Amino acid sequence: MKIVILDGYTLNPGDLSWAGFENLGELCCYDHTPENEIVSRIGGAQCVITNKTPITRATLESCPDIQYIGVLATGYNVVDTLAAKERGIPVTNIPIYGTAAVSQFAFALLLELCHHVAHHAQTVEQGRWAGSRDFCYWDYPLIELSGKTIGIIGFGRIGRATAKIAQGFGMQVLAYDEYIDKTLENESLRYVSLEEILRCSDVVSLHCPLMDSTKGMINKDTIAKMKDGALLINTSRGPLIVEEDLKEALESGKIAGAAVDVLEKEPPRDGSVLIGAKNCIVTPHIAWAPREARTRLMAVAVENLAAFLQNKPQNVVN
Ligand code: NAD
Repeated sequence: MKIVILDGYTLNPGDLSWAGFENLGELCCYDHTPENEIVSRIGGAQCVITNKTPITRATLESCPDIQYIGVLATGYNVVDTLAAKERGIPVTNIPIYGTAAVSQFAFALLLELCHHVAHHAQTVEQGRWAGSRDFCYWDYPLIELSGKTIGIIGFGRIGRATAKIAQGFGMQVLAYDEYIDKTLENESLRYVSLEEILRCSDVVSLHCPLMDSTKGMINKDTIAKMKDGALLINTSRGPLIVEEDLKEALESGKIAGAAVDVLEKEPPRDGSVLIGAKNCIVTPHIAWAPREARTRLMAVAVENLAAFLQNKPQNVVN
């Protein structure tokens, strides 16, 4: 069985092992694959593993030996799953691996907005504390989270894990989801409407998937309904936010700070209105990437292929 990994670098930049895949067949692993080499690199391989390299209908037509496509991520929109299904090719994904990592990162972003740790540490390195008249100084309003309200939009695995962390900080949690599980409610957590989340939250954190119904959900109109001076966190998907509208809200102070790990276009080759925007922190889509989470991802990716080879495919999305 020939296995080709088209773009293994972000999952394993060198600190993990591909041995799990090597044990299942003849492995050929590329760090990256440019679009014009996808077909030639797949060649006669039966099993194709991709992270962000697109597998289109045309590629499937040009590579008739493909029997299996494994995606090294939760989102699988890089594969034409319908075209694969028509050919009887199962496409698998990794549904859970990063819940702890992404929720922790949502809080890393929030804490950075509250304290600007990186900025203050940098001013100390630049000698400002040494020359300071007072024993301390700070350049931004510092924010205590205890007693504040966080609104979590999308109350699935990561949203719920983020809620637990927020409760640990003494925050009140408002949750919005299409599916409501009342058993999760308690004295510091309740489900509310989207309107109420926007109206009542000091912090809004996005944890719903990108779909037609969620694309652009944070826009001029929804921002207008938010509390003045609210904070916004996005570790989910960039297109949930209309970036130009958020930039305007940051400039006017309507939104006091935003921190996003995801952008509409990744990487942002032509820049982004949010990079360098007032009170805005942008990180390069790293919430998923602690080694612990990538180790889990690798293990499930190997299990998915092993299950397919035993005729018991798992985590099939098409
Ligand atoms: P999940 O499926 O467990 O939870 C998503 C929740 O959103 C579900 O409860 C679903 O009912 C809800 N939802 C769907 N449509 C909605 C809508 N219109 N309004 C409100 N809620 C809605 O997924 P998860 O594991 O919690 O992941 C959440 C998102 O995090 C993923 O979709 C992905 O975009 C993102 N993510 C980002 C990273 C990163 O590195 N930044 C890593 C992993 C996942």
